[in-house]
Amino acid sequence: MEEKRRVFPVWRGIGASSAVGWSQGWGRCLRWEPGSQERGSRIPVFDYPVWLLFCRRGRARLREVCQRGRGAIRLPTDLLNLKLPQLFDIHQVPMVFREDSIISGYRHPQSSAMDCVLSSFQMNNETINIWTHFLPTWYFMWRFLALCSTMNFLNDSYTWPLLVYMLLICIYPFTSSCAHTFSSMSAESRHICYFFDYGALSLYSLGCAISYGYYVMPDCWVNSWLHQHFVLIAIGNSLFCTSMSCYSSVSLLLSFQTNSLKTDKRFVELQFPKRSKALRTGAFVVPFIFDTVPLFYRALICFWGGGTPSDALSSHCYHLLFAFLTCFLFTAHLPERLAPGRFDYIGHSHQLFHISAVVGTHFQMEGVVADMMSRRAWLQLHGATPSFLGTIGALAVSVALNLAVIGIFSAPLLWKSRPGSAQQHAHREQ
Ligand SMILES: [Zn+2]
Repeated sequence: MEEKRRVFPVWRGIGASSAVGWSQGWGRCLRWEPGSQERGSRIPVFDYPVWLLFCRRGRARLREVCQRGRGAIRLPTDLLNLKLPQLFDIHQVPMVFREDSIISGYRHPQSSAMDCVLSSFQMNNETINIWTHFLPTWYFMWRFLALCSTMNFLNDSYTWPLLVYMLLICIYPFTSSCAHTFSSMSAESRHICYFFDYGALSLYSLGCAISYGYYVMPDCWVNSWLHQHFVLIAIGNSLFCTSMSCYSSVSLLLSFQTNSLKTDKRFVELQFPKRSKALRTGAFVVPFIFDTVPLFYRALICFWGGGTPSDALSSHCYHLLFAFLTCFLFTAHLPERLAPGRFDYIGHSHQLFHISAVVGTHFQMEGVVADMMSRRAWLQLHGATPSFLGTIGALAVSVALNLAVIGIFSAPLLWKSRPGSAQQHAHREQ
């Protein structure tokens, strides 16, 4: 009987049992115990922050330091008894929070903002999603600052497309990280968080178009109709991308009923999950294909002509490889579909999707910078000098338009007529 209750164990931490001493090694200290009956649920709970799991004898060392420094350092005793928010399994959270083939590790569907921040230090099914975009934000920031010290972004208009691109590759992983952190505050906040995530991604696609339009465009297409309208079409694509991806989450039907305006929220994601996924994938694939057409053409000319690819083109090809992998991971939900519940915390497709996207962006950045440096003289000679309106102006206009789209989709969600909508969703959806 006791063994059966060990299906969903509870992590008790180092030294939880008197039978196991700290000196007996890390492996012996990891003890999995059945959840207590009073809690009423059999769920895996990590009582300590994730960094203590990775740090060998981390908690033991922390306790030792506190004891030694008592009187001198006066660390708060609460630090030793840090309790992180409880986690839930898939059947305990409303439908809108459930992820395909992720069985456990869900945060409370109405977490406070502080709980959300704390949860990023706790092992749950969003932790790696948060960090796989938070850490790369600082990597891209570091690269951006390094470029700032070598380039004159203020006065040299040739660098403006790169400036826009670098800004956006810092913004999109940061927005995604915030969206994953605060998505468990309520059903509405979850949708709004991901609206911003989609908006940042679609702006990133605009950043790609601006940098490709000025630096990556094949020689024979420079000053063509496509080249002259490339950024304008990309602005339209970014609006399409944000609108379609927001629509894939929620469609809003406003109808007049008995002389009053009533808001009817229809969650496409819940009613038609496959259609929602197809819409969202399409929303991002369309701008990607448009942005990448000049690059495809350049690669084809190079490989068919038997030419040797430049360093820039090699980086672009690696980026394309990772872009396809990213798309595959986003749509396939592998490996968790093969073994539901096995990859809840580490290794599920969304984490791999984040990593693949970031690695792809790194190669893309290298390719863009290499093209920008190596083609400067030729591009400036042929009159392809970037304008303020075509770079920073296009970004400002797109930010305003995308925020307006997000506002249109978010307003009815914020317009809550009754409190406790998460529970209402839960009852309605189950
Ligand atoms: Zn994500």
